Amino acid sequence: MTTIPKEKFVLEMGPSNEGVDKVASGSTVVFESFDCFSNSIQSEEDTFSSIGWANINPATGPLYVEGAEVGDTLKVEILDLEIGDQAAMTTIPNAGTFAKTVDQEKTKIIPIKDGRAIFNEHLSFPIDPMVGVIGTAAANEDIPTGTPGDHGGNLDCKRVEKGATLYLPVNQPGALLSMGDAHSNMGDGELLICGVEIPSVTTVRVTVVKGQEYPLPCIVNEDQFMTLASAETLDDASVKAAENMQSFLIERLQMDPIEAGMLLSAVGDLRVCQIVNPMKTARVEIPKSVVDKYNYAFK
Ligand code: CA
Ligand code: CA
Repeated sequence: MTTIPKEKFVLEMGPSNEGVDKVASGSTVVFESFDCFSNSIQSEEDTFSSIGWANINPATGPLYVEGAEVGDTLKVEILDLEIGDQAAMTTIPNAGTFAKTVDQEKTKIIPIKDGRAIFNEHLSFPIDPMVGVIGTAAANEDIPTGTPGDHGGNLDCKRVEKGATLYLPVNQPGALLSMGDAHSNMGDGELLICGVEIPSVTTVRVTVVKGQEYPLPCIVNEDQFMTLASAETLDDASVKAAENMQSFLIERLQMDPIEAGMLLSAVGDLRVCQIVNPMKTARVEIPKSVVDKYNYAFK
């Protein structure tokens, strides 16, 4: 099995990317990843400013998938997601949702023990690992790994987890998949500005789906189908994610726009992925049973 070591990473996703390894469609690949701080925060004495933005959000890869041509879709099944035994959270003064009150640097180390994240002397919670940064090379320009977009990137969507299948666009030959920035836990919104940041080992199966079947990026798991969208404002991201879901219902389930709109108002959930990155990300979720009732099978 191909393993990509964490030392092979990019800080941008786009035309300048070159594959560090090459596999056939249908292959299983292991991505070892640093945490978003390049593993440089090991104690509460280490602060965000000691790292520098140049070493934030390294994404392991890129992986070249044979047969992936521009206009195709890359299917990424997350088969396994293992995390390290120590996580970190940091503040960035005057940034994030609480910019008015969070005005100094602070680091919290969060040990992971027996499947729980030890938050403080009162609180621990079960780990719920997710991948924050995952994407293919963007079409027209190199996009920093801290920014989300149609290519994926820093989506910070907690549904990107073990058991999920993520579909991404192929904008460059070979797709050039990269990922990193895992969290042991993150709430919708990622309000402070970081998740519970942790190194990871992610095992995925990558498959080329010819053409574009779905509005991208999108996710399927056991119970839900989700469309994701990123934009400068959460309002715009929300509308785009909803329009993407509506277009799926129209194009793949042959609903008319009004029926699709009514359905989404009835059972579609608009949720926030994150509001702290350069572009904000929203998602719309529908029960997978809706898709099943129309006898549609995901490719
Ligand atoms: Ca992130
Ligand atoms: Ca993160």
